[in-house]
This record gives sequence, structure tokens and C-alpha cells, in this order.
Amino acid sequence: MSLYSDLLAIIGDHERVTANETILEQHSKGMAYHTPRKPDVVVFPVSKQEVSRVLQYANEHNIPIVPFGAGSSLEGQIIPMDGGISLDFTFMNQIISVRPDDFIVTVQPGVTRNQLNQALKQYGLFFPIDPGADATIGGMAATNASGTNSVKYGVMRDQVLGLELALTDGSIIRTGGYSFKSSAGYHLTGLFVGSEGTLGVFTEIILKLQGIPEAVTDVKVTFSSIEAAGKAATMLLKAGLPIGKIELVDEKTIQAVNAYKHTSFREEPTLFLEFSGSSPDVEYGVQLAEEMVKEEGCISFEFETDSLRRAQLWEARHQAALAIIAAHPGKSHMVTDVCVPLSSLVDALKYTRQVVDQYQIDAVVFGHVGDGNYHAAFSVDTADEEEMERVEEVHKQIVRFALAKGGTCTGEHGIGIGKKPFLIEEHGDSVALMKRIKALVDPNHILNPGKVLDHTVRVSQ
Ligand SMILES: Cc1cc2nc3c(=O)[nH]c(=O)nc-3n(C[C@H](O)[C@H](O)[C@H](O)COP(=O)(O)OP(=O)(O)OC[C@H]3O[C@@H](n4cnc5c(N)ncnc54)[C@H](O)[C@@H]3O)c2cc1C
Repeated sequence: MSLYSDLLAIIGDHERVTANETILEQHSKGMAYHTPRKPDVVVFPVSKQEVSRVLQYANEHNIPIVPFGAGSSLEGQIIPMDGGISLDFTFMNQIISVRPDDFIVTVQPGVTRNQLNQALKQYGLFFPIDPGADATIGGMAATNASGTNSVKYGVMRDQVLGLELALTDGSIIRTGGYSFKSSAGYHLTGLFVGSEGTLGVFTEIILKLQGIPEAVTDVKVTFSSIEAAGKAATMLLKAGLPIGKIELVDEKTIQAVNAYKHTSFREEPTLFLEFSGSSPDVEYGVQLAEEMVKEEGCISFEFETDSLRRAQLWEARHQAALAIIAAHPGKSHMVTDVCVPLSSLVDALKYTRQVVDQYQIDAVVFGHVGDGNYHAAFSVDTADEEEMERVEEVHKQIVRFALAKGGTCTGEHGIGIGKKPFLIEEHGDSVALMKRIKALVDPNHILNPGKVLDHTVRVSQ
């Protein structure tokens, strides 16, 4: 029997088990520069029982299996490096139950964040984690994703109250539950969230929800230097204003956006802010923020309350990554993702700009000032060895700067394939414990092998 026919026998529906070349191709690559590799078969489960049976089969036959959400991850997480099965959650996209009075929803992993927020509107609730792509909740939980809202609401790990997941032997377990707090035993939910599909496969996810704020106002402020912008950001955060988002973009990034969109945004270091909460709080917050940043010598201050104009106000921030992609057609996307303590952020941004300029790399640099996480985005030609060496050196220096400040090599994108050496630099001897956990939960190394940790190294227990 072939892998395909075995899986067909398990699933019993040839529409949901496929070796079609186009579909294999779609499951062979992420959104970034990593070398593609096709799976042998793509399976689209519709139930936890099917997930469990496929896992059990893969485990018994030592076949690699890679969970697949929307495929928007940026570190090659969904590339089946050793072939095998790509387990695509497109059809497990049901919102299982909404408990509006508990501020809780239970979803299947294939639900996307936009789909969820659309369904929650009628309850006056929303789910705040907002990566730039319309990712699935399963993929977001597996990468511990976050986005511009994290300064107010935290990251994915803060929202996942519980999980139902299938282990490699096919057993299904539950972690966490429906309470906002628990001190019962080890925090297994926290372990599986962020495990990038290497420890277990989510079949249900229990999430915490938020009330939709009554009022939202967006603000754009420009400064003469990145230091002035950074200092103002710290001051605003310390003032305890109702800040929902706070992002910093350097002047070269705005130049890149202007060139791409033919716009004429002021080419100065820019803070993008969103105030959210009750109307009086937001109004007062914006007023106070204006006074504070003017005292700090800001060059311009604009604000908008209308939703369409708010989006326009933030355009330079939203277009930053696209600007660098558009400037280099045919090249692949690479993005750094370090996170540093807040007081080091301005130095880190300046250092990053200096390093990319020194190595003559065209880059946009933008940061989530509220949590110290920022990105330098490049376009790379993976066939150009000299360019790849330069870019990798730049990435290494940016990461080393962050680690020297006590930061991390990845704030939200995860390790995947691309950042494995940095994980070792960052976590040193605790990587050995991570390997033991992996070996315990997935002794045959079938779950997303080669991601996060090097699967060629087996650890004796
Ligand atoms: C334009 C753009 C902007 C982005 N902006 C951000 C951002 O602001 N913040 C951010 O954090 N990320 C961002 N990302 C990255 C990406 O959107 C996130 O990593 C996201 O969480 C991936 O979700 P996904 O559904 O696409 O997952 P996939 O890419 O399909 O998978 C990601 C990982 O999750 C695992 N996985 C998927 N489903 C399951 C499951 N059911 N059980 C167990 N494991 C599973 C996969 O095996 C893989 O390891 C951006 C990406 C793009 C393209």
C-alpha cells in the first residue's frame, strides 16, 4: 500500500486526501525566503477523530506530519523538510461555542482571525490578536503570534485559556479550561502554545475575548530624530493613557513607502498611536498626548476618529513591508523579529539602521514601541550567495545586539527553520531540556521535524 492509499483508507474521501501537484506545491513553501519542499500527500481532516487516526498512522510508520493553517508564517514553519503529510485545517473552521457573558469562545483551529471577529461583532466582543495576515487561530496559537494590539491585550499565549490536542500516539488530551486563572499543575497550555506544531496538534482552542471599545482615535506624530520619538513614546506609556497601539517607523522607511505609493508623507521618524476605551477617556488621552508630544518638540501631530480616515492615517505603517517587497520584484522576503527591553528600543532601531546601511542592504525598519519588538524587512535573492551572506551577517548582528540587551531573537514569528542557531545562542543549556520534552512527547520525531530544534540530534533520556 502507498502512503496515499493508506491515508485514503483512513479518511475515506478522495476530495480530502490529495497528491495533486498544485496542492502539494501550495503546501511546500511559506511566505518567506526558505527553500520549498513538497509534502507527499496533503490531508484535510474534518474532525478530531480523523486528526487522531492520521497521527497514529504516521507515528506507527515513522512518517513526518506538518500541521498547516493559513501558511502565512515567516520562518518556514510549514515546509515539510522531509516530505510526508501536510495536515491542512481549512475544513476544521467551526466556531464551536460563544459564551458572551464569560468573554470566552471555543473554536476549531482552522478558524481565521477575521472570520472570528466577524462572528463576534453581534456580541459586542472581539479577539484582539492581529498579525498582518488573516492567519488561523491554530497557526497563531502554534507560533504565539501577536501584533499591534499586544501593548494593550498581550500575545496569543495570554488569550489561550485551554486546548484540546492530539498527541502523536493518537490520544486526545485537554489542557486548561474555561476559567481566567488556574494554578492547577504544570502550565501545559503555555507549553503547547508557541510549540510550532512540534509537540501536538490542536483540535480545539478556548480563547479569551474583549469588549469592543466605545471610542477609537488614531494619531500620527512626527519627530526630528528617532531618539525624540522614542522618548515621547516612553513618556506616553508612563502617563497611563488609554493606548491601544503604539508603533515607531524610521524616516527611511517612510521614504520607501512614499516611493512605492507615490505619497508625500513627511519623511521623519513617526509614531503611530491608537487610543481606545470610553469616549471621555480617549478624548482626554489624545488631548494630553498632544500637549506632551508638543512639549517634547514634535514636528507634526494629526488625529482621526473616522474609521476610513484612521486607516489612511496609518497607511505608511501598514505599507512598510509591502514597500520593500515592491521595490525588489522577483526577490524573496526576509524579516528579523527581535524584541528588546523598552529602554533599549531606540538604540536597537538606530543600530539596525546603521548595520543595514553599512552592509548596503535595502531595508524597512518598524517597531512595536509598546513591547520592544521590531522588524527589519529585506528582499533577498536566495541564489546570490554573496547577498545571502551579507543579509545573514546583518541578521546575526541585529540578534546579537538584542541578546546583549537581554532580549530575544523572535518576539512573535517563532524559530521555524530560520532561527534555530539563534535559539541556541539565546537559551544555551535550556535547549537540552526542550529536546528532552520533544523526545518525550514525540519520541519518533514525526511532528514537524526540523523546526525549532534540530531533529537529527536525538537525546537520550
Ligand atoms: C503580511 C504578513 C504580516 C504578518 N504579521 C505578523 C504579525 O504582526 N505578528 C505575528 O505574530 N505574525 C505575523 N505574520 C506571520 C504569520 O501570520 C503568523 O506566524 C501566524 O501566526 C501564522 O498563522 P497561519 O495560520 O498562517 O499558520 P501556518 O503558517 O499555517 O502555520 C504556522 C505554524 O503553526 C503550526 N500549526 C498550524 N495549525 C496547527 C494546529 N492545528 N495544531 C498545531 N500546530 C499548528 C504549523 O505547523 C506551523 O508550525 C505575518 C505574516 C505575513 C505574511
